[in-house]
Amino acid sequence: MLALSAAHASRFSTSTAVATRPFRELVSYVIPHAKKAEQQARTFTTTTPAMSGTQGIIAEAFSCSVNRPQTAAKHPQAFYEKKPHHLKNSRGFQNPWDSWTDGGITQIFKGVLTHRYKNGFGGPVTEPAPNVIKPTFPSTRSTDTTELRATWLGHACFYVEFPGGLRVLFDPVFSDRCSPSQFIGPKRYTKKPCDIEDIPEIDVVCISHNHYDHTDHATLMKILKKFPNCQYFVPLGNKEWFTSCGIKTCTEMDWWEDREVELTVKEGKLNATIGLLPCQHTSGRGLTDRSLTLWGSWYVKSGGKNVYFAGDTGYRAVPQESDGKDDYAAEYESLPVCPAFKEIGEHRGEFDLGLIPIGAYVPRCPMHADPKDAVNIFLDTKCKKAIGMHWGTWVLTDEPVMEPPTRLKEALAAKGLEETGVFDAIDIGESRVY
Ligand SMILES: [Zn+2]
Repeated sequence: MLALSAAHASRFSTSTAVATRPFRELVSYVIPHAKKAEQQARTFTTTTPAMSGTQGIIAEAFSCSVNRPQTAAKHPQAFYEKKPHHLKNSRGFQNPWDSWTDGGITQIFKGVLTHRYKNGFGGPVTEPAPNVIKPTFPSTRSTDTTELRATWLGHACFYVEFPGGLRVLFDPVFSDRCSPSQFIGPKRYTKKPCDIEDIPEIDVVCISHNHYDHTDHATLMKILKKFPNCQYFVPLGNKEWFTSCGIKTCTEMDWWEDREVELTVKEGKLNATIGLLPCQHTSGRGLTDRSLTLWGSWYVKSGGKNVYFAGDTGYRAVPQESDGKDDYAAEYESLPVCPAFKEIGEHRGEFDLGLIPIGAYVPRCPMHADPKDAVNIFLDTKCKKAIGMHWGTWVLTDEPVMEPPTRLKEALAAKGLEETGVFDAIDIGESRVY
């Protein structure tokens, strides 16, 4: 979202930027060439005395193991072996499908400026905003429930409580601005539903890619401080940045790779299978590191439940001149679709819950799904239920803020699906049980 965010910068700017760490990233940060996938199984076990409250009393021992599975899970064979998403000479990554038409940052700026020229430069409507409620979290970790519980914490951040006790946080961003600096860039217009300090347990953090609205340094530092044993899972090329931030418990993965994770906490053992899957997007935190690190979607299976987190993604090619038109109209029906989502459904589905983006679609670009795309992702990946995300938190694009849920209902109805109870847009801070 960096390019679109920059286009909004003047509207949200309140102060001259100060050279904070994230701002320095904008001007000088270049991730070294992305590394190849780890060749050997990575196993580590740590035993760390956990401190209880402010008393400094040793309360329990923590241990963790992260291993490649003994038998690789199913995957698209040709894709996995040839790795067409890896650019030669470790120069980063690409979307290896016809559905991706990349004109680079220039095309994105052109799209934004063309849309503004046609529709005015007043900016998107920011009222009314989504409802924000304070989330409630169980004070103790339940390990004897069969329920899966998901709480939307705004934009792409979800807190998921699995049966058996595992607690996973996806793409946490709790800062006011999703930007290289807290003095400039898109400002949150719906308040935070809570902060990291309000969340009782975080065992695992999964990051979809390094754009600022998905990877936030300040938030990660808060998690590191409160949950020093938390395990982080990131796409290839991102581990070095996490390590430089002081996060040592980071595992980076390629598309279609899985890890078996076992955590021993005071309530007992927590087991999960965590895997990175493809999606159609890009990455970058500065001016010169576009697509040098990988992006992806995640699945997490634990306690008998299987969750798909789609990250930030497009679904198909978009027309060059589609502004204001239905790009699912007959004239556009030959536009290619990203095949990855059907492969994900075939090889990792079914999913009890999908967390799928429904916003950031005006102007259209191939890196963001609109609600019709989102319903197709829901069907292709074989999700039984879903919650919409990537809307209602920061004004990053030009669609009216409250439009995505309305268009989601229309898209569901067009596919013969119930408008509520299957794939819902919920309040920020709201929890749903499955
Ligand atoms: Zn992004």
